[in-house]
Order: sequence, then structure tokens, then C-alpha cells
Amino acid sequence: MAEFTMELNDEQKEVRDWLHGFAADVIRPAAAEWDEREETPWPVIQEAAKVGIYSLDFYAQQYFDPTGLGIPMAMEELFWGDAGIALSIVGTGLAAVGVLANGTEEQIGTWIPQMYGDANDVKVAAFCSSEPDAGSDVSSMRTRAVYDEAKDEWVLNGTKTWATNGGIANVHVVVAVVDSELGSKGHASFIVPPNTPGLSQGQKFKKHGIRASHTAEVVLENARIPGSCLLGGKEKLDERLARARERARAGGGERVKNAAMATFEASRPAVGAMAVGTARAAYEEALEYAKTREQFGRPIIDNQGVAFQLADMRTSIDAARLLVWRASWMAVNGKPFTAAEGSMSKLFASETAKKVTAQAVQILGGNGFTREYPVERMHRDAAIYTIFEGTSEIQRLVIARTLSGMPIR
Ligand SMILES: Cc1cc2nc3c(=O)[nH]c(=O)nc-3n(C[C@H](O)[C@H](O)[C@H](O)COP(=O)(O)OP(=O)(O)OC[C@H]3O[C@@H](n4cnc5c(N)ncnc54)[C@H](O)[C@@H]3O)c2cc1C
Repeated sequence: MAEFTMELNDEQKEVRDWLHGFAADVIRPAAAEWDEREETPWPVIQEAAKVGIYSLDFYAQQYFDPTGLGIPMAMEELFWGDAGIALSIVGTGLAAVGVLANGTEEQIGTWIPQMYGDANDVKVAAFCSSEPDAGSDVSSMRTRAVYDEAKDEWVLNGTKTWATNGGIANVHVVVAVVDSELGSKGHASFIVPPNTPGLSQGQKFKKHGIRASHTAEVVLENARIPGSCLLGGKEKLDERLARARERARAGGGERVKNAAMATFEASRPAVGAMAVGTARAAYEEALEYAKTREQFGRPIIDNQGVAFQLADMRTSIDAARLLVWRASWMAVNGKPFTAAEGSMSKLFASETAKKVTAQAVQILGGNGFTREYPVERMHRDAAIYTIFEGTSEIQRLVIARTLSGMPIR
């Protein structure tokens, strides 16, 4: 097990500087344009693929970094550049992790390369869990997967919503109900291969922020996929369902639910790190502006009312990063989240990003309210962090349940 450290090693610093260079030179200058276009920034993803940032290799290297700091460091730098573009770059990684975590070696080898494509023909992937009536309440999911034994095929029906890269992805990872009696334990994940008849894009959403990231409904109408597309395989699923039925019979329903929540905990620090990146970007803009903007014959930072805000902003950002790094180190080293440390990190970092970007708009005054300055966009982008991958209220619920051991509602 790697010791927890608050210092990046030389190799990590090199990677961080390289990512920062890409974020500053390629992502940031493109941010305003793709925000206005509200389209996937394919040329930027292609640039990222050319230099090796958009690839499974890069993502896996950071993911398996034993210090736990690889992913948060990478997320912070890319999202410092721009949240919408960065999500377009890392969105595929989020779907790929679903396959890495649950897939067989053959599934990993077959599908992950098709999620990324190559630098001359980049592709993206989507992870589709949320539905119109099943957001926070995943157990209300309705999309069904029915096994057609005669053909060894699964048949998928339902509507997914708010899927990042939904409909434009080469490969979709879809979570569906296979046993409706078991709540979220009766769910399984499936690969929907490219050009599968029956999968189509529904509504594409026009959004408040992260507008360079494509978000859409995914409609599944009798979408037939090979039996081999069930992640982990049928045998494993049957064993898992049998265990869940046994536990449900023995009255262990709540325990089952909490185990599912614990799995989500591990991915939350990465979202916290995205929020830290956006918050830091806005803080840096505000600090620079406060030092140069003059009113009443002196820089506005000369006023404690402004300087103290900046002090608070920086303090919160550093505290958020520490929570994120701790949780990420714990997740990578298999330390149990006995106080829901993953949720804590996501909760604090996302709320910090919302607050800090609002303060940055205030410090820039009229300019902060216009699209001439990036803090306006950062403030809109930051609103997503308290919503996706579990809202702030759901994080508080997880933390409170973990601390108390009570089924708090
Ligand atoms: C831009 C964007 C990208 C997304 N990308 C993806 C993706 O790639 N894949 C995917 O599957 N999903 C994705 N999502 C969906 C996202 O995860 C959900 O929006 C989120 O989980 C919240 O669900 P909901 O919107 O249905 O809100 P609801 O669950 O309806 O919640 C509404 C409000 O009620 C509160 N609330 C609900 N239950 C409770 C409770 N028990 N106690 C206290 N408060 C409660 C919530 O905190 C929230 O404030 C994305 C969403 C957005 C906006």
C-alpha cells in the first residue's frame, strides 16, 4: 500500500505540467467557441488523441497510480482548461471504467479500443444509467433487458436520459433491469455495439453549462445485442442474482442497498477533482483581476472586502483538494470509506466550485457578468458538479447514513 502523500513525485509533476500545457494552449483558447456552438469539440478531442491524452493507456496509467493522485491531478488540470471540453475528453473514460471494473478480459480487449478509436478517427463512448423517472433513485429504473436463450441475445427496451455522449457514441454502456424484484441489485450492465439497430438518440439537451459536452436521451427499442455483451458474463450474473435473492429472503435488503452505494463512492473523488479544477481557474482569474483593476485610485484587492474573499476562496479550494486526494488514495489502496470519505470529497469540492465561481463573478463586477471574461462560463459550468454523479443532497444522505448506521431518508 502506498503511503498517503500530499506531494506529487517528479514523474507526476512532469505529467501535470504536460497536461497543464495542453489545457492552457489547446483547451482554454477553444473554450468560448465550443461553449457557444454547444457541440462536441471533435478537433480538440483529436488533438488530445494525437498527443496521447485521449487514450485508454493514459487513463489506465493514472487510474492505477498507487498513490491515488494520478486521476485527481489529471482531472484538475484538464478541467482547469475548460469543463465542457474536458468532459468531452474524459467522458469516454468514465464509460471505459464501467467495462474495466465489470468486464471480462475479452470484453475489455474488444470494446475499449472501439470506445476511443484512433487519432485519425476518434470515437467516444457513453455510460447510460439515468432515466426520466430514475435519477437519484436508481432503483426506479425501467429499462429492461430480457434474455432470448434460443438466440443467445439480450433484448433491450427503455429510454435513458442525460447521457453524456448519448447517441453520438460508438459504444454505449447501458444499465438495465434483469430482475425487477431485487431493486438496484437486479441491474446489469451491457455493451451496445456500434450501429446496433433499435438504439437511437432522442432529445439533445440545450444546457446551462458544460455546453461543449453533448448530453442526450438514448432510446432503446427492441435493441438486440449478442449474449457476450453482458458485462462480466451470464454465469457471474446468475450467481450474483442468486446471492441477492438469498439475502433478500433473509431480510438483508438494506445491507444490499448500502453495498451498492459503497461502489459509487470510489468514483466520486474524480468528480471532486473536476470541481477543484474549475474553482481554481475562476480563483486565478479573480486574483489577477483584483490586483490590476483600480477603483478609488487603488487596486480593488487593497480592500479587505475583496482580499478576504480571495483568501476564503483559496482556503476552500485547498481544503477541497485535500479531501479529494485523501479519498482517491483510500479508493486506490482499498481502504474502506468508513465515514463516506468519497462522498465527502465530492460534496465539499462541488459546493466549493459553485461558491468560488460566484465570488469570482462578483470580484470581476460587470466584466464578470459578460462572456468577454471566462468566469461567467466557469460559473455556469460549476453548477453541474452538485448535480451529476449524485446530487449534494444524496452525498449528505450517504454520509449521514454511513456515520449513523441509520436508514435516514
Ligand atoms: C450534464 C449532465 C450530464 C449527465 N451525464 C450522465 C451520464 O453520462 N450518464 C448517466 O447515467 N447520467 C448522467 N446524468 C444524470 C445525473 O446523474 C442526474 O441528473 C442526477 O443523478 C440527479 O438525478 P435527477 O436529475 O433525476 O434529479 P432528482 O433525483 O429528481 O432530484 C431532484 C432534486 O431532489 C433532490 N432529492 C432527490 N432525492 C432526495 C432525497 N432522498 N433526499 C433529499 N433530496 C433528494 C435532489 O438532490 C435534487 O436536488 C447527467 C446529468 C447532467 C445534467
